[in-house]
Amino acid sequence: MKTAFFSFLLLALTACSGGQSQETDKTAADNETSPSANGAKVCRIDLLPYGDFTAQETERLKRELKQNLTQIVPVDIKILPAEPLPHSAYYKPRNRYRAGEILNVLKRRKKPGEGVTIGLTHKDISTTIHGTQDFGIMGYSHLPGNAAVCSTFRLKRRADLCNLVIHEFLHAVGFPHCETAGCYMQDAHGKNVMTGSKSLCRQCQPRIKQMKY
Ligand SMILES: [Zn+2]
Ligand SMILES: [Zn+2]
Repeated sequence: MKTAFFSFLLLALTACSGGQSQETDKTAADNETSPSANGAKVCRIDLLPYGDFTAQETERLKRELKQNLTQIVPVDIKILPAEPLPHSAYYKPRNRYRAGEILNVLKRRKKPGEGVTIGLTHKDISTTIHGTQDFGIMGYSHLPGNAAVCSTFRLKRRADLCNLVIHEFLHAVGFPHCETAGCYMQDAHGKNVMTGSKSLCRQCQPRIKQMKY
């Protein structure tokens, strides 16, 4: 029973698109064992900067994530040494990287219960979705899963990266999309909804207690 349920969940992928239309593309999870002061489990997040994503940018993101995520879940954020994007994910015809393959590489590095690794890149990433073989996206994660990848390529403002990363992280720990404007989990429906101040809506808040990490 358990196995069947888990397999079903792994089939649910999320590709978060947005930003400007380009070409035919319309737009586009350490152990968490130590308890926090209020008794909730601490979620380990590993940030992995790819290529020219700088140490300064990663440090800034870490501070923003800590500030915003601690209101939802206690987190322990680590920065991994930078590395190149996986060569196996490169899609030459469009000079992009396949998000699914990046996740395949990342998820092999963690065992269940070891938190979420989030890859960070300035390169364009894509997946097969909406009947399009290679569709440009901003973020990609499993629902739930132990990894996510986020790209700034389609973000209108660099300042929106924190919202995007929180969105993908929350997918990875079990949050589906919602339709509430201003919620971290709002379904973009092909538009860029990452801008501005965000919070978790009333519909999404009960899921905090069911987070998987
Ligand atoms: Zn999403
Ligand atoms: Zn919501």
